[in-house]
Amino acid sequence: MKTIGLIGGMSWESTTLYYQLINREVARRLGGLSSARLNLVSLDFQDIAQRQRAGDWAGMSAILRQAARHLKDTGAQCLLIGTNTMHKLAPEVQADAGIPLIHIADVTADAIIAQGLDTVGLMGTRFTMEEAFYVQRLRERGIRCVLPDEAQRIEIHRIIFEELCQGEISDSSRRWFSDCIADLQTRGAQGVVLGCTELPLIVRPQDSCLPTFDTTALHAMAAVDFALAA
Ligand code: GLU
Repeated sequence: MKTIGLIGGMSWESTTLYYQLINREVARRLGGLSSARLNLVSLDFQDIAQRQRAGDWAGMSAILRQAARHLKDTGAQCLLIGTNTMHKLAPEVQADAGIPLIHIADVTADAIIAQGLDTVGLMGTRFTMEEAFYVQRLRERGIRCVLPDEAQRIEIHRIIFEELCQGEISDSSRRWFSDCIADLQTRGAQGVVLGCTELPLIVRPQDSCLPTFDTTALHAMAAVDFALAA
């Protein structure tokens, strides 16, 4: 079994999902007491979120590249960045890492294509929804994103940072997401990308009128595939 390297803590609420999903899947596939070989660097999300607000992407790049090098030096054979947003920095982290980076948008695109869809709603932070790094990566695979309108994008971003990343899961926000997904459907979405690693904490399949693409689970399963490949 190969060793997975995970840069987490963004937020730790979703890093716990990664840890559970990866270990449960390794146990399911190998049986017995099997669990994943996994190295984790867990960052302080207060610092990261402040830098996001300040636009300090150079500073965050240095932090992620240092974390990736540490993971490699301590035996990791692949790299996961456990957040969609921070994949804005994926090209420079990959260039430096010396081990393969499993890109969250690529594994999401694989799943969308496997279901035969080409138009999906995208929910995530404003960085993920509004900047090119994620939407463009899907477009290169022939997938068109339907974005929430501006007021919806502001509300999704607020719920992510003020509720989900702080462990708060409310029924009212869950209903709000269900309505937002229904709206994306009327605008042509055939499925919805939960493009923030905390979103599966609140949007369960039964809360969505569309098929959901849980980026946390897809990313975690891709890591297990890598770790257990011959
Ligand atoms: N975990 C979230 C994501 O997948 C948001 C946290 C962050 O800004 O990195 O984008």
